[in-house]
Amino acid sequence: MIALVDHFFNNLPRDAVRLNHPVCEIQKRETGIRVGVGELEQEKRTWFKARKVILALPPRLAAASILFTPDLSPVLTQAMLKTKTWMAGHAKFFALYPSPHWRQAGLSGQAFSQYGPLGEIHDGSNREPNAPYGLTGFVSVPAAQRREPKALKQAILAQLDLMFGSPAGHPQVFYLKDWAQERFTATEFDQRGPHEHPLFNPPDGKNSIWDNQVLLAGTETDDQLGGYLEGALASAERAVKEGIQCFNRI
Ligand SMILES: Cc1cc2nc3c(=O)[nH]c(=O)nc-3n(C[C@H](O)[C@H](O)[C@H](O)COP(=O)(O)OP(=O)(O)OC[C@H]3O[C@@H](n4cnc5c(N)ncnc54)[C@H](O)[C@@H]3O)c2cc1C
Repeated sequence: MIALVDHFFNNLPRDAVRLNHPVCEIQKRETGIRVGVGELEQEKRTWFKARKVILALPPRLAAASILFTPDLSPVLTQAMLKTKTWMAGHAKFFALYPSPHWRQAGLSGQAFSQYGPLGEIHDGSNREPNAPYGLTGFVSVPAAQRREPKALKQAILAQLDLMFGSPAGHPQVFYLKDWAQERFTATEFDQRGPHEHPLFNPPDGKNSIWDNQVLLAGTETDDQLGGYLEGALASAERAVKEGIQCFNRI
């Protein structure tokens, strides 16, 4: 994934990408669109002017964290809030080791468990020779019960030790990423994730708002592969095509 991001980044003008610029307001003016960047709870804003905006983030997150002026319709706002952000309530771990010791013990590294904090484990080693070896997977404990990362880490290492032998409980490097706590992915509505993959559609059937001046992208707006990486690419292609058509009409 990072290769894809790096490729796009390296082909854009240097000042086109602004990191750490959270959009908190979008306003429709007679002269075009104004995009306000900053923290919602603070007064200070940096404003950008645009003819078109593509919102490439989960619709639920956009509705919960961006102020729109004039108001979006209540129906559209509710539809955006009700569009679940796929996997946003999950947590993943990665444990890195100097060697794939589980393979030497005749184990694949793949496991599914209904006991212990990990529900799903995979051999996540890089395929290149001598690259880092690792076990990765999903925490099955619900988001609301993941408030103690130190205790969770200990329980995860104990489970790895139990399933794959003692070296598994002592990784060189250990990462735990709780997406439910990630404010640019999850909202409070994502703390209880759906059990099944939802059917995704543009919220309230809309791919754009304000006469196509703001286009909705992001994987959760794609009706074919919504929720997946492929859905993010498909929705981006659709939004860019719509944006270009709109420009041609101006
Ligand atoms: C734990 C987990 C496991 C997953 N596993 C898989 C998998 O195996 N296969 C698969 O296909 N998909 C998987 N997915 C889903 C995949 O990650 C998404 O489909 C994909 O990332 C969606 O891309 P996107 O561009 O639509 O949105 P995102 O990747 O969510 O990108 C949205 C971007 O908008 C930024 N942003 C948010 N708010 C603002 C704001 N106010 N201002 C400016 N920027 C903002 C965010 O920082 C982020 O960079 C997984 C997701 C998670 C969380």
